[in-house]
Amino acid sequence: MIYLYYSDKFQNYNFGPEHPFNPTRLMLACRLMEELGLVDGLACMVEPNPASEADLQRVHTAEYLAAVKLEKPDLAFGLGSDDTPVFPGIYDASRLIAGASIDAARRIVREDCSAFNIGGGLHHAMPSNASGFCVFDDPALAIAVLRERFDRILYIDIDGHHGDGVQQIFYDDPHVLTVSLHESGLYLFPGTGFIDEIGIGPGKGYSVNIPMPMYAGDDEYARAFAEIVPRLFEWFKPQVVVAQLGVDAHYSDPLTSLNMTLNGYTDLVRRIIDLTGLHSEGRLLALGGGGYNMEVVPVAWASVLSLMRGDALPEYLPPYWAEFFMNLTDREPLALPDIEMKVGKETQKRITLELAATLKGLKEKINEIHRVF
Ligand SMILES: [Zn+2]
Repeated sequence: MIYLYYSDKFQNYNFGPEHPFNPTRLMLACRLMEELGLVDGLACMVEPNPASEADLQRVHTAEYLAAVKLEKPDLAFGLGSDDTPVFPGIYDASRLIAGASIDAARRIVREDCSAFNIGGGLHHAMPSNASGFCVFDDPALAIAVLRERFDRILYIDIDGHHGDGVQQIFYDDPHVLTVSLHESGLYLFPGTGFIDEIGIGPGKGYSVNIPMPMYAGDDEYARAFAEIVPRLFEWFKPQVVVAQLGVDAHYSDPLTSLNMTLNGYTDLVRRIIDLTGLHSEGRLLALGGGGYNMEVVPVAWASVLSLMRGDALPEYLPPYWAEFFMNLTDREPLALPDIEMKVGKETQKRITLELAATLKGLKEKINEIHRVF
């Protein structure tokens, strides 16, 4: 069974009309999934409940929760910045998204199922502050619930940005292996996620970062993934996998400088699903995340659900949905299949060299602690 988490109330997590984190993309993704016939007896839609204060305190401090509840700008808690402005109802909207990931984790603990919270993946939130459009760290909250049953949890994050909040929260914890592929912090927010960020104390060797060169595309992602991630699965033997599947590494995304296509994106998702089947009995909690081109996100996340179901990828967009999309956004949806992206010869050379050095350095760093590679 696959539980799909969506609620029309996710629309309330809204930083305003000028902000890139537009909740309409979630509604469009959900409608597309329905229109493609992906929501049925195998994948059923679940209406989430808001996270309780006790559950939120598994990760967040009481002071921070009180500050969010006040719904007033307070930069000491990261509230009211340009990235994460305060809006009326921010506490309830944030705890509904967190509640969905927590509920999904509870179902996996009880039922050995998989789940997809398309509103989740808010990986920048820290224990006592909001950051980068993220108020509560739902991936970390879900992992905290999964820890009640599982001793080895693998968190993999393919969002264009580094999964810094989740990394920090489990930085000293050997039970949670965090792996993030993202545009290098040299070029992009949050400016972290380098190969030498590897964990501390008992958690040393359980944080893995693959900073990707600017303009890296499908080939580079496929290479980085293949060289690092399958070995980590074999070595760590995760009992459950939490995957943040932000799609802002796409070439059309306004916030990043990467060149992934939907072909490359779905290829990575398929590999994650296959590895989870092979090593973790298929226990997968998939989460949404970034993705700021409205034409890309619904197709990407509908494709994730297709792959989780074991179906073929959608080859065209249903005409009714395409019309609905155009009426709502005044834009044409992205046509399937996605185009191929190529960069100039010199750029390609630079990307290949930079990535080779990164992967070599990363393997050496990890091998100093555990013999993995
Ligand atoms: Zn992102």
